[in-house]
Amino acid sequence: MIKLGAKYFKNNGQVIYGISLIILTLLLIVLNTVVVLNSSKRNMHASLQLQGLYLSRQFITTSYQEFADKDYGSLQDKLDRIRQASPHIIKMDVLEKNGEIFNIVASLDRDSIGSEAKDTNYILSWAVDNVIATDLPDTRENSKGSRLWEIVTPVHDDNGDKKAIVVLQLSDEIIADLEKDILGKSSAVLLATLLIVGLLLTLNARLFEYAILFKKLKEVDTMKDEFISIASHELRTPITTIKGFLSMLLEGDYGSLGEEGTKTLKIMDASVKRLGSLVEDLLNVSRIEQNRLKLSSSKVNAKEIIDSIGDEFELRVKEKNLKLKLQIADDLPNVFADEDKLRQILVNLVGNSVKYTKQGEIEIIAKVVDKKFVNITIKDTGIGMTAQEREQLFEKFYRIQGDDTKGIVGTGLGLWITKQLVELQGGEIFVDSIKHVGSQFYFTVPIYAGQKYLDEEEKNK
Ligand code: ADP
Repeated sequence: MIKLGAKYFKNNGQVIYGISLIILTLLLIVLNTVVVLNSSKRNMHASLQLQGLYLSRQFITTSYQEFADKDYGSLQDKLDRIRQASPHIIKMDVLEKNGEIFNIVASLDRDSIGSEAKDTNYILSWAVDNVIATDLPDTRENSKGSRLWEIVTPVHDDNGDKKAIVVLQLSDEIIADLEKDILGKSSAVLLATLLIVGLLLTLNARLFEYAILFKKLKEVDTMKDEFISIASHELRTPITTIKGFLSMLLEGDYGSLGEEGTKTLKIMDASVKRLGSLVEDLLNVSRIEQNRLKLSSSKVNAKEIIDSIGDEFELRVKEKNLKLKLQIADDLPNVFADEDKLRQILVNLVGNSVKYTKQGEIEIIAKVVDKKFVNITIKDTGIGMTAQEREQLFEKFYRIQGDDTKGIVGTGLGLWITKQLVELQGGEIFVDSIKHVGSQFYFTVPIYAGQKYLDEEEKNK
């Protein structure tokens, strides 16, 4: 089971990558919440301390006269008012130094007035004559582990002589409450984020499945390509043998066959030729798809090739009572192409024109366009096609099904192969057609000089 899991992960790196990203995102969200919470807690503590300092200072400066007159009764009145206004002040005492000890002379806790107090911070503040602020644990009952800030401030008279100290304690309960509130809210946000990430994870699980399926599909596709390639290769040899013997039989090498026999052999010969061209098409498809088709481009005389194609089709055109016209520009330049491939493109396009034309003519026109390309057009007065039928024309195995095409055999591979060959040579192919009027296929091939010109342009970059 573990082995199976390990194998699954090994084969599906993207799954581990996806899950790691999700876990990392979650960790970052949690980390961010903790960091934000801590820093806001620190800020709140600092502002609580400042608040304590400010309150003590304000109390002392607004009670300057009372301190000078030792009017502890008025000070007590003020403290009573503060008690009502600020409930989170848990202690505020005014202490007078009496020898080694301090006496409480006014306090928020009226019961403590008159009692003695001895505290290191009081002594220290008095001795260094400065404010002492300390963070202490809250020892009151029900304090729930909260802490408090104690601010001890010395009070001076006009001559700068120390008169008393003011002790103020502020509880951080208010911070704890705020913290609880923030924690509650951020936990809710975190939970919602977790939920969304969970949902994403389930969605991703499906995406992972698709990714695996896609990988499998690609494997099957490669297997199919290999199968077609091997099968076509294996079929080639017996087809060549059959073709050879058939032509020997037809030529009478094994004696006369009689009219019936010759007729049957001719049908066989046509079928084997069709089988052969199907196998060739399949081999070309697999070569192109597996990037195994190598071009050996060089300077090619396009006019000569078009002329020879014209000769090649002369008989078939005549048999169908069609006319074949060539219109080649006199100054047609050489092209930069693979001669065999250029020939194959022309055979496919002219072959289709003959195949899909019942009457009229076929024209091959060759001229220069844009000074860089030779444009070759194959025009026919055939069955034509609608705009909708044209849409998928260059797709593999696409054949137009209709009354006009009934009985015309083909594989639907020719135009796909043609387009690939044109583009591999640096050209483009287009089609114009009107149903029942005719079609016009035109493609471009780079001019040989144009190729040189392109190379130079490349060098100058
Ligand atoms: P095939 O001719 O073997 O069926 P192609 O890929 O060469 O395959 O052509 C695809 C389809 O395009 C053909 O089945 C035919 O319907 C249509 N087609 C191709 N050339 C012409 C043409 N010149 N005129 C009308 N239809 C054509």
